[in-house]
Amino acid sequence: MTRIIGVVSGKGGVGKTTLVSNLGASLAQQGFNVAIIDANLTGANLGLHYGLISYPISVHDVMKKNASLTDAIYKHPSGVDIIPASLSFEDVLDTPPVNIGQEIRTALSDKDYVLVDAATGLDRETLNAIDMCDEFILVTHPELPTISDALRTKSIISKYEKKLTGIVLNRVTKKDELKKDYIASFFKLPILGVIPEDPSIRRSIELKNPIVLQNPNHKISLEIRKIAGKVAGKEMKAGKSILDEVLESFSFVLFGSPSKKTKPSETPKQK
Ligand code: ADP
Ligand code: MG
Repeated sequence: MTRIIGVVSGKGGVGKTTLVSNLGASLAQQGFNVAIIDANLTGANLGLHYGLISYPISVHDVMKKNASLTDAIYKHPSGVDIIPASLSFEDVLDTPPVNIGQEIRTALSDKDYVLVDAATGLDRETLNAIDMCDEFILVTHPELPTISDALRTKSIISKYEKKLTGIVLNRVTKKDELKKDYIASFFKLPILGVIPEDPSIRRSIELKNPIVLQNPNHKISLEIRKIAGKVAGKEMKAGKSILDEVLESFSFVLFGSPSKKTKPSETPKQK
């Protein structure tokens, strides 16, 4: 069954879109069928992370009922299907947030994962994105004001009686910041991963290629791989590289591995 996972936060700029683009690619690298959707109607930019700059049909057209969701899917060579939102100001002005959860479930029923890049704050745009999803990953900086905003987002999700899978700490610098264990106990949620502040992220955005695709063995790519493993329910060591995965798959083919319950890694599928 397709898991529709919203990536949410309390504050903007914490790294939701960066996580959606990279987590989507990482899950695809691990052989899953993945789509990513930009539900940030007033601040769309998910497509840009993949170099998708000009596209005739967007989430806005789907919400305005001018197009079907299938028409808004753009296939990336990584295997990730991208459903971008419009960059046009006119579309922002004349598109009310509409719950397209049913369209997602129908048009993307072949997907293992649909990651939804949510808007920030607690207005209709964000609430609509929350309404469309089954479960959530909360992204935050490890600093008090951002944590306090994230806590409000957690409360809203509990009101919807939906599942919060865990927290990703991003842009971590280890300077005067709250500790991971403290944040985990404060939120009563697992920490899925800790991503450091690193200029390579900005470089990968400039290159319009998520870091997990551009440099799969970068420490951030390995950490995102670990997060993908946790989301998918398989524990992967942060230190495990693509090479380790490939070797493991070979040993699986040659010698078998009774403990391997999930899909072995495979090259991304291209349709
Ligand atoms: P959000 O979607 O939550 O608003 P973004 O993913 O757009 O946040 O990230 C905001 C900015 O932070 C982007 O310019 C991105 O380059 C930068 N950024 C995100 N994560 C990191 C990181 N780990 N290290 C350095 N810069 C980062
Ligand atoms: Mg964003």
